[in-house]
Amino acid sequence: MKRLEFESDFENRIVAPEYNPLDADNELSLRPQTIEEYIGQSGAKENLKIFIQAARQRGEAMDHVLLYGPPGLGKTTLAGVIANEMGVKIRITSGPAIERPGDLASLLTQLEPNDILFIDEIHRLARTVEEVLYPAMEDFSIDIITGKGMGAAAYHLNLPKFTLIGATTRAGQISSPLRDRFGVQLRLELYTPQELASIILRSAGILGIEISPDGAAAIASRSRGTPRIANRLLRRVRDFAQVLGDGVVERDIAFTALDRLGIDAMGLDNIDRRMLKTIITNYGGGPVGIETLAAAVGEEAVTIEDVYEPYLMQIGYLTRTPRGRCVTRLAYDHLGMTPPEGAAEQPTLFE
Ligand code: ADP
Repeated sequence: MKRLEFESDFENRIVAPEYNPLDADNELSLRPQTIEEYIGQSGAKENLKIFIQAARQRGEAMDHVLLYGPPGLGKTTLAGVIANEMGVKIRITSGPAIERPGDLASLLTQLEPNDILFIDEIHRLARTVEEVLYPAMEDFSIDIITGKGMGAAAYHLNLPKFTLIGATTRAGQISSPLRDRFGVQLRLELYTPQELASIILRSAGILGIEISPDGAAAIASRSRGTPRIANRLLRRVRDFAQVLGDGVVERDIAFTALDRLGIDAMGLDNIDRRMLKTIITNYGGGPVGIETLAAAVGEEAVTIEDVYEPYLMQIGYLTRTPRGRCVTRLAYDHLGMTPPEGAAEQPTLFE
């Protein structure tokens, strides 16, 4: 029973960082097109500018790029920005969509010189496909075998020079031969509230939503470091501003709306709070192993690792230790619960 409740909450989760088909309108119109419009990620951006300029000056394809980090941080967007800045076409696909080596061959042979192939969720590529990708990335050629038995035939195809941009939420799951073939590897970080406020102001401008800087800061403070969530919350808060207020997204109406959506001051929703409380009440605050925790909350371990944990760890509510996950004193305080003696004081990054 509990499990069902958890799952239905999960599907409707406003603060889920993954793509939801309901975001479709938002995402198309709000995606930055140029590197200047792309807010935040300054470290990654500064390096990319150099690589883009260098490749353009040489008239060559850019080196292959691996982008990694939690969902909703702008990996797909950044791939599009790179294509725009390079003045080349981009072909977007994903690891699970490329089922057979032949599917990859057909994608690759359609590319023009210097084009970009973007593979989202590249850690989910089939092994047989991955093996075709190695020589494609390295020597810009592929060998494919068609047919079976006596009728089998092998082909060697030369490809145009292209750039592969791979994106993943799980850098650790990419095999090292694949990882080593990316000349550029960039980790995207959660955004600061200031960066998110700029993203919200920009999006409001595009969507024709009236908003005050305080209103943007209010939404940003609860957007979990993630632009996709910030944009989604902006649209929801706009509804409240329109019905309950004068249509302008101000600080007070933003906080009222977010409270009513069950998103608290730290951007946590019911599911986050329930997960933290499960660790506290069932496991004395931890440590608890990821598989045990996953079973207790009725979620996949990978979902916990990819979706819930990055933000809870970023805000210092959860730590990852060799013996399992621990809730910190900060989380107890946030939930209004009393920490036991010796509860983890603060996040330790390198335990
Ligand atoms: P990912 O591929 O990492 O899951 P996306 O690239 O699809 O994330 O980004 C989700 C949405 O967030 C985009 O549609 C875009 O509107 C917004 N977004 C992401 N990064 C930025 C950014 N740096 N500046 C402005 N908006 C962004």
